[in-house]
Amino acid sequence: MSILVVGSVAFDTIRTPFGQATEVLGGSATYFSAAASFFGDVRLVAVVGEDFPEDHLGFLRERKVDLRGLQRVPGRTFRWVGEYGFDLNEARTLDTQLNVFADFAPKIPEEYRDSEVVFLANIDPDLQREVLRQVRRPAFVAADTMNYWIARKPDSLRQTLGLVDTLVINDAETRQLAGEANLVQAARKILGWGPRGLVIKRGEYGALMFNDGDWFAAPALPLEAIQDPTGAGDCFAGGFIGYLANTMNFGDASVRKAMIMGSVMASFNVEAFSLDRLRALTSGEIQARFRAFKRLAHFEDL
Ligand code: AMP
Repeated sequence: MSILVVGSVAFDTIRTPFGQATEVLGGSATYFSAAASFFGDVRLVAVVGEDFPEDHLGFLRERKVDLRGLQRVPGRTFRWVGEYGFDLNEARTLDTQLNVFADFAPKIPEEYRDSEVVFLANIDPDLQREVLRQVRRPAFVAADTMNYWIARKPDSLRQTLGLVDTLVINDAETRQLAGEANLVQAARKILGWGPRGLVIKRGEYGALMFNDGDWFAAPALPLEAIQDPTGAGDCFAGGFIGYLANTMNFGDASVRKAMIMGSVMASFNVEAFSLDRLRALTSGEIQARFRAFKRLAHFEDL
């Protein structure tokens, strides 16, 4: 089934305790598309500037991501500079240059408007609603956001939340958005604003989901070699939403498997900088890691 993503395509400069990378391919839509492309047909809408090299997108093309919705306009591409300490769960943003993103007005191509599943990646919440105005009747809409927008556009974000099925955010964002320290109370408050489901990503501690009145906890795989957590959240969303689009089954058992698929894709992505691990990834490795997650969390009844 077709998956529409609208988000950022970026140049990222990243420092982690294990290395650094300068002006490498990043962006929420880029990571999401790469991860989701293992499960369905992905259609990308984003904007880049004149400085964006054509061959940067070769990998997404190889993965059959539809790039007809990628606009190229005069100006510089969006840039993000971030660093992580030994606690890889928290990215410190050192610089955000919106550049061509500042005037981005997402235009959904006619041939994308029938997309069944929509992911509103981390962009201005005004633009997220603009996207929903242009699509016909998606079966499932999920959205992400981050501290940048929670702080700058809380009212707009609340309006967007009224239009989405599931919100996929991290634990710090959950607390900030709700203004509540306790995650359970924060989740209840956010769900009161509209979404039926809430996925809370907790980095190396896994992810929690509150869906139709039920909690589900996905573990994170204890990994030997983590290089760079950038994009883990978007790869999680790519696996989670990709799996749901693949099955078009939004029942409890299916969303639980989707949570594990999200965790699988995130666990691969953190093993290398930029999208490098996904470039080498195979479907066989994805299936094997899904089973590793099952073993990790399995226990017998009393
Ligand atoms: P995450 O999955 O949360 O680690 O997302 C990382 C990606 O988000 C990076 O590749 C950045 O380019 C992108 N990013 C950072 N800040 C913003 C922002 N304010 N708007 C859109 N994308 C952003």
